[in-house]
Amino acid sequence: MHSRKSKPLIFIIEDNEFHLRLARDLLVAHGMQVLHTSNPQEAVTQIENSRPDLILIDISLKEANGLDIARKIKGNPLLSHIPIVALSAYATKKDEENARAAGCDDFIVKPVNTRLFPRQIADNLGHQDN
Ligand code: MN
Repeated sequence: MHSRKSKPLIFIIEDNEFHLRLARDLLVAHGMQVLHTSNPQEAVTQIENSRPDLILIDISLKEANGLDIARKIKGNPLLSHIPIVALSAYATKKDEENARAAGCDDFIVKPVNTRLFPRQIADNLGHQDN
């Protein structure tokens, strides 16, 4: 079981309209609920208030480094159990290593693969019960 909620709640931090819409539409079509912000200053507070089941973070935000947000979440005992999936337009090994070092549980290259993405998210949702 994913959580007490019937539908998993996914929180997306993304400042690109195209990538946001693609991710959100795919997740909603697969029975998930989605909350979103493009404002890094509001993200952690909104996550504290909404307690999502998984967080997707665009690591290259205009106003912040998404990995700093990941570190903040993983450093917060109330939030550190929530799986974080990094989204990046860059696919180098170093980018993935940096994301994992910042506490991200998984790393997905944008644009997401429409066929694989919902399963990738579902797989990461499962990890919080392990
Ligand atoms: Mn971006």
